[in-house]
Amino acid sequence: MSRTLIIAEHDGQDLNPSTAKCANCAAAMGQEYDIVVMGSAIADVAGQATTIDGAGTVIAIDAEHLANPLASNHASEVVAMADGYSHILGPSTTYGRDLMPRIAALLGVNQVSDISAVEGPHHFKRPIYAGNAIVDVQAPEAVKLVATVRVASWKALESTGSASVEDRPAAVSASLHTRYIDLQSGGGERPDLQTANRVISGGRALASKENFDLIYDLADLMGAGAGASRAAVDAGYCPNDMQVGQTGKIIAPDLYIAFGISGAIQHITGIKDAGTIVAVNKDADAPIFEVADIGLTADLFNVIPEMKELLG
Ligand SMILES: Cc1cc2nc3c(=O)[nH]c(=O)nc-3n(C[C@H](O)[C@H](O)[C@H](O)COP(=O)(O)OP(=O)(O)OC[C@H]3O[C@@H](n4cnc5c(N)ncnc54)[C@H](O)[C@@H]3O)c2cc1C
Repeated sequence: MSRTLIIAEHDGQDLNPSTAKCANCAAAMGQEYDIVVMGSAIADVAGQATTIDGAGTVIAIDAEHLANPLASNHASEVVAMADGYSHILGPSTTYGRDLMPRIAALLGVNQVSDISAVEGPHHFKRPIYAGNAIVDVQAPEAVKLVATVRVASWKALESTGSASVEDRPAAVSASLHTRYIDLQSGGGERPDLQTANRVISGGRALASKENFDLIYDLADLMGAGAGASRAAVDAGYCPNDMQVGQTGKIIAPDLYIAFGISGAIQHITGIKDAGTIVAVNKDADAPIFEVADIGLTADLFNVIPEMKELLG
């Protein structure tokens, strides 16, 4: 038995591209794979999953208590169906980072985190020390592999597949010890940071919550996601789900623009897979210029209004 189960991430309407990236990772391992979609009223999302290239079966588990991404409910469901699979993969997004360790613990195995490259079905590479070193991981073949896939390292597979959907009832009832209450997200209607093609970020230099409106306005004009450095988050200028970096989100947009961000290694680790990095910083010696494709030594309080005027 050598088959992979991929856990689909979605918001109830759209399948997150992280699912097709996990599929790419499974394909690189030479594995056949199925996709499980858990949620409530998920026929559309399951339909989207069927188009991922090479998907075997899309298993749709539709139940009210699975509507929200509560790890305690989703993990039990995955564990109940784990028997037929040698590998279980999920994305290294907030959802996957919450869910996969719980699955691993329930199965009594260690988790392999952040697979960034594949050498074989049990042989991977993953970054450590904020991306400063790459470690070679050899997982034991006799043990079920539970892993997260570093979504910034993988392209989504094409959507030319035509898998079938298998509807299954939930195998496990709702957990009694955890309840879903609310999702509070700072991003508003802006594109999700981890899937946005463009991201505009601000750092400590913004100097206040009010000034962060400059970042939001520019992001909105460019149809971009809005991000921040940890210093900006810690100072309370913006919500912490906007944090990019080692202890925030690892992102890989086509375009990343950093305003007033120094370029600490913990920040760079979150953006080094971005296509084009643009940095605006007053200090010509700021380390961010070492990784930037385009650098502008300038005051952000002059540059952003000029950009807004040009775009507006
Ligand atoms: C374990 C650990 C984990 C961490 N995780 C993260 C993480 O996930 N993400 C993260 O971002 N950081 C993280 N950090 C923090 C990181 O080390 C830095 O402290 C942080 O990134 C600095 O944020 P900053 O660049 O906004 O602020 P600063 O380092 O203070 O830089 C501000 C920059 O703004 C420039 N500037 C000032 N005024 C202007 C102006 N008007 N116009 C243009 N430029 C201007 C300055 O020249 C300076 O370069 C972590 C640290 C540790 C120890």
